[in-house]
Amino acid sequence: MFNFQKISNLYIWQNNRFMPLKEKHINVFSHSLHYSGAVFEGIRVYKGKPFKQLEHYERFKKSAELIGYHIDYSSEFLCKITEQLININSIKSGYVRPIAWRGPEDWHVSGGNCKINVAILVYNPFYDEKPNRALKLNVAQWKKIPSECVPYDSKSSGLYMMSTIMKNEALSRSFDDSIILDQNNCITEATTSNFFVIAGEEIYTPALSCFLNGITRQTVINDIAPMLNKRVHEKEMQLTDLVNANAAFLTGTASGIVRIQSIYDDNSKTQFSFNIENNLLRNLQTTYKNFVLQHDLSKTSTLQSQI
Ligand code: PMP
Repeated sequence: MFNFQKISNLYIWQNNRFMPLKEKHINVFSHSLHYSGAVFEGIRVYKGKPFKQLEHYERFKKSAELIGYHIDYSSEFLCKITEQLININSIKSGYVRPIAWRGPEDWHVSGGNCKINVAILVYNPFYDEKPNRALKLNVAQWKKIPSECVPYDSKSSGLYMMSTIMKNEALSRSFDDSIILDQNNCITEATTSNFFVIAGEEIYTPALSCFLNGITRQTVINDIAPMLNKRVHEKEMQLTDLVNANAAFLTGTASGIVRIQSIYDDNSKTQFSFNIENNLLRNLQTTYKNFVLQHDLSKTSTLQSQI
């Protein structure tokens, strides 16, 4: 459970100023609160270092552009601010939440004259995380909106309304999360993470369609699987394909690689169960853990002079 007391002493950075979190309140007239349109990121901090933060800040800026506004700060500048916030708040293991939103200046739905606010928070929401858990999922009753209808490459608050509904429905039925299908009944992703299966010695993930191409998904495809001499096959997948899967897992910045124990489909009354001790899955998890701990900051550490 999120504990506000534990974060109320933090320093945040907002609109080019470091300040105590408790000093800041958001104007209730803020455009993004009414019409959505905030964009945000989640970056994981391991041993005091942010993992792949440059990639996250580049996605952050692209998310804003895709929904019609521009973040003036460079990704490199935001990386440096993040490193400073991690130090100021003495965070060793934690999470970074950059967010940008339209302010209260323009009440038209376009919000074209709103000021763009940018804030970064660094905190540790992982203090009660269970080690290497295995998830029980269901199949959501809601389907994904087709990709012609919304910009899935934008990590924008508007797209998260459905994740919130589906996650709450899953939790109320004692599942941990939901797998979401598209209009053609193809598997897409879970509410806040990407989906993979292992069949024999092969790794599969849904081909990109109406979901976020997560940075952890890309890390598994481009870094982790090749380290194990594997290639991830990106292909359309239906629930019936899960019969052939030995193991399954989710990927996301917050939790890394998380094992799936089972997926229950209400429509066919079928439960798909997976081997949570699968060797290849264990190797992927170990390789990912080592990779994030060894990842270096050199890409951003020469940029001090730009601040
Ligand atoms: N899909 C959705 C909808 C998400 O919110 C996230 C978390 N950002 C992911 C996938 C995984 O993305 P990443 O690996 O970049 O955290």
